[in-house]
Amino acid sequence: MEFITACREFLAEGDCKEKEPMGVHTTFQAGGPAAYYVTPPDGDTLCRVVELCKEHGLDYFVLGRGSNLLVSDSGYDGVIIDLTKYFKNMKVKGQEIIAQAGVALPVLSRMAMMHSLGGLEFAAGIPGSVGGGCVMNAGAYGGEIRHVLKHVTVLTPEGEKKTLSADALELGYRTSNILKNGYIVLSCTFHLEPREQDLILADMKYYNSQRTLKQPLDKGSAGSTFKRPEGYFAGKLIQDAGLKGYRIGQAAVSEKHAGFVVNLGGASATDIWQVCQDVRHKVKEQFGVVLEMEVKTLGTFPTGAV
Ligand SMILES: Cc1cc2nc3c(=O)[nH]c(=O)nc-3n(C[C@H](O)[C@H](O)[C@H](O)COP(=O)(O)OP(=O)(O)OC[C@H]3O[C@@H](n4cnc5c(N)ncnc54)[C@H](O)[C@@H]3O)c2cc1C
Repeated sequence: MEFITACREFLAEGDCKEKEPMGVHTTFQAGGPAAYYVTPPDGDTLCRVVELCKEHGLDYFVLGRGSNLLVSDSGYDGVIIDLTKYFKNMKVKGQEIIAQAGVALPVLSRMAMMHSLGGLEFAAGIPGSVGGGCVMNAGAYGGEIRHVLKHVTVLTPEGEKKTLSADALELGYRTSNILKNGYIVLSCTFHLEPREQDLILADMKYYNSQRTLKQPLDKGSAGSTFKRPEGYFAGKLIQDAGLKGYRIGQAAVSEKHAGFVVNLGGASATDIWQVCQDVRHKVKEQFGVVLEMEVKTLGTFPTGAV
């Protein structure tokens, strides 16, 4: 039986699609279609989808809110498993919030504020999900997921549900071992500190006003395109290399913040990718610093050593 037919035996038609354009699911607003696109409603169904992928020899990729992802123009010849449609429950228990992987980080941050719990103010304007935020150890303004994460429930590649302490995830600067281990994050437990609601709200507002001021939020992007190289700021190096506004087609280095590669409208993923590679080449040439991509890629892109 074909993969899609098998999926439709236990999933609604709207929850398993074919040839789904990925531009609508990523903040870069670019990229070709995924062969299959599945939104499982719960953990058991997710397990069945993963099993089915294995039975059919299909690769799968877990999608959060697509805010740190560039999908190639030729798309992805596998199964996208999107957890942001259904995995959206949150529970507050004393100083802890248990949030499912699909909860948006700004929603989580707001929930913490409503319960006068401090520690997630930094996440108020990060457009990712709890799952993606955990994978990336998302952070801003001195805060990071690892500062507040207590434990995580994952689905292992063997189909087992496991709860791991945050320490087991090797959370570092925009990294964790989650992808390496093939885990799918199902939910996270955050431990927060009591804090006056007004102070929490003031910080959230301040951070968001800083974003509006400094970041090109009116354009498609994946936030900071490159990781911060030790001892430098990626945006400053790119600006000093004279690359602000550097453009290929509709992809460009933002005029507002050189650390962001942006889609000016209708950019191809290939052009976005090429702008990123040219920036890396030129920064290495001028300053001897190798910029590492923070953005994840999916599908086929040309290789080119920097
Ligand atoms: C305007 C803008 C501002 C940003 N600002 C910041 C910032 O201040 N700080 C910061 O750290 N980031 C920032 N980002 C980047 C991005 O929001 C974060 O990296 C975020 O954590 C990504 O979450 P996501 O759900 O969108 O993940 P996605 O982009 O969907 O996926 C990222 C990776 O995580 C994996 N993944 C996602 N969910 C799961 C899951 N449940 N289980 C296993 N793997 C999973 C994916 O397979 C992929 O490899 C910004 C992005 C934008 C567009």
